[in-house]
Amino acid sequence: MLSTMQDVPLTVTRILHHGMTIHGKSQVTTWTGEPEPHRVTFAEIGARATRLANALRDELGVDGDQRVATLMWNNSVHVEAYLAIPSMGAVLHTLNLRLPPEQLAWIVNHADDKVVIVNGSLLPLLVPLLPHLPSIEHVVVSGPGDRSALAGVTPRVHEYEELIAGRPTTYDWPELDERQAAAMCYTSGTTGDPKGVVYSHRSIYLHSMQVNMTESMGLTDKDTTLVVVPQFHVNAWGLPHATFMSGVNMLMPDRFLQPAPLADMIESERPTHAAAVPTIWQGLLAEVTANPRDLSSMANVTIGGAACPPSLMEAYDKLGVRLCHAWGMTETSPLGTMAHPPAGLSTDEEWPYRVTQGRFPAGVEARLVGPGGEHLPWDGESAGELEVRGPWIASAYYGGADGEHLRPEDKFSEDGWLKTGDVGVISTDGYLTLTDRAKDVIKSGGEWISSVELENALMAHPDVAEAAVVAVPDEKWGERPLATVVLKEGAAGTDYEALKEFLAESGIAKWQLPERWSVIAAVPKTSVGKFDKKVIRKQYAEGELDVTQL
Ligand code: AMP
Repeated sequence: MLSTMQDVPLTVTRILHHGMTIHGKSQVTTWTGEPEPHRVTFAEIGARATRLANALRDELGVDGDQRVATLMWNNSVHVEAYLAIPSMGAVLHTLNLRLPPEQLAWIVNHADDKVVIVNGSLLPLLVPLLPHLPSIEHVVVSGPGDRSALAGVTPRVHEYEELIAGRPTTYDWPELDERQAAAMCYTSGTTGDPKGVVYSHRSIYLHSMQVNMTESMGLTDKDTTLVVVPQFHVNAWGLPHATFMSGVNMLMPDRFLQPAPLADMIESERPTHAAAVPTIWQGLLAEVTANPRDLSSMANVTIGGAACPPSLMEAYDKLGVRLCHAWGMTETSPLGTMAHPPAGLSTDEEWPYRVTQGRFPAGVEARLVGPGGEHLPWDGESAGELEVRGPWIASAYYGGADGEHLRPEDKFSEDGWLKTGDVGVISTDGYLTLTDRAKDVIKSGGEWISSVELENALMAHPDVAEAAVVAVPDEKWGERPLATVVLKEGAAGTDYEALKEFLAESGIAKWQLPERWSVIAAVPKTSVGKFDKKVIRKQYAEGELDVTQL
C-alpha cells in the first residue's frame, strides 16, 4: 500500500522561503574590523538572494545545473549565495581558499565552474589563476579589497552590489527534484586528486533538520552561533542552511579569524554557540589566558574535524564554555556523531562520554569492520574501521562533466556503505571512540599504537601547547612513534624523560611510550586547520627534525 501523504520535495528553496518569512527578523552579523559590524536580517538576505538569482540568470546566463563557485570568507553575502544558487537549480561550489593554487585550479576545472563570486580581499589568490581557469566566464567581486589586478582579465568582471541592485525581489523558482545536486565540496585530498562530494537538496534539508535537533546542536531563534568553521569546509558544517531553517542568528567572522578578534567579537556580540576545529579553540584559549575576555555567553560549542584533546575540554569548562565533541567528514555532510552524554548522570559520570566522538543520530547507521572484512561487535573493545550509511552520506564522488560518478573500492563497500578510514570502537550504548585514522595508526611489532591517545596525553602536560605523534620506520619493530611537541610560551625547557614519565603516569602502556622526541615551533596544519602529519613524516624522512632518541 502506498501512503496517503503528500510528496513535497525537500529543497533549499523551501529553506530560503521559510527563513526569510517566518524568521525574517533573525540576523546575520558580519565582523568588519571597524567599530560597527555589518548587520542584515533574514528577510533582507532572502530579498538579496532573490536578486542574486535574477542577476545570475538574466545577466550572467546561468542555466540548469551549471556550477557557481564561491571563493569567500564567512559572511552574509556568502549566505546569500548558499541560498540563491541551489534554489535556482544551479550548483553552489565552495572553494577552499587555503588550498595550494594548483589544487584550486584543478578543482575549478574539474567542477567546470562557470561563475566565481570572490571576496575582494581574495583577488590576489584568484587573479593569477584565471588564465588557467578556462571555464570561468564571469567574476563577481564582493566586499573590500584592491580591484586593480582585475584590469585586463579575460572573464567579465562584475561588482556584486551593482550586479544585484534594482533586480526583482521575486523569482520564478523552478520545481526541483529533491535528489538533484544543490552544492559541492571537494575533500582536502591529502593523497591523490581531491574528490568532489555532491550534496542533494534532500540531503541538505534532512541534514539541516538533524543539526537543529536538540540531540545535535539544538539551536533556536533565541541563539546566535559564531560560525568559525569556514563555509568552504563541508558547508560550514551545515550551519548556514540549518540556521536559516530555524531562525538562529549567525555571527560571521569574515577574514578576522585570528584569536584576538575572535575573542573581541565573542565578548561584544555574545554568541551562545560556536563551531570550529580544535586548533581554533587552542589559539583562543592561549589568547584569553594572556588577555582575559568574557567568553561566558558561549555556553555551548561544537568542536570537531579532528580529535578534541580532553585537556582542552577541561580548560574551557573552567571558563564556563562547554565543548561538545562531534565527528564527521566532507562525505557525511558532515554531521556523523555528537557527544552528548546520556541522561541521568552526574558531572563525573558524564566525563567518559564527553571525551568520545559521540553517538549516532537516527539518520546515520554505523558498523565496524575488522581487518578480514568481518563485522565487529559494539563492545567498547573491538577496534575496526568505521563504515556508515544514511540519507546525508555520500554514495560516490563526482566523476566530472562527462564521467560517471566514482565509487573507489577503498572508499565504498560493495553493499554501498562509506568506508570512513577512521579506526575505533563503539560502546554497547552506541558511543564511538576513534583511536586513529587508518593511515596514522602506528604499527609496532604487530600491535597498534594510537597516535591520538599519545597526543591527548601529551597535551594534558602543563608545558605542552600542541603535540603530534607520527609513525616512523624502525628496524626492530617496523614502526615506532615519534613525538613532536610544541612548548607553551614560558615553559621551562624540555625534559624528554620527564615527558615520557608523564605519559606513563597517565596510563600509556610502557611498550607504547615514544623513544624519539623532537621540539618543533608549530604543528603543520592542513588547509582546514587539522594536524598535517604527512608533513612531519616527510620532515623526519628528510632529516629536517632535530630528534633526540632516549
Ligand atoms: P574532512 O572531510 O576534511 O572534514 O575530514 C574528515 C576526517 O576528519 C574524518 O574522517 C576524521 O579522520 C577526522 N575527524 C573529524 N572529526 C573528528 C573527531 N571529532 N575526532 C577525530 N577525528 C575527526
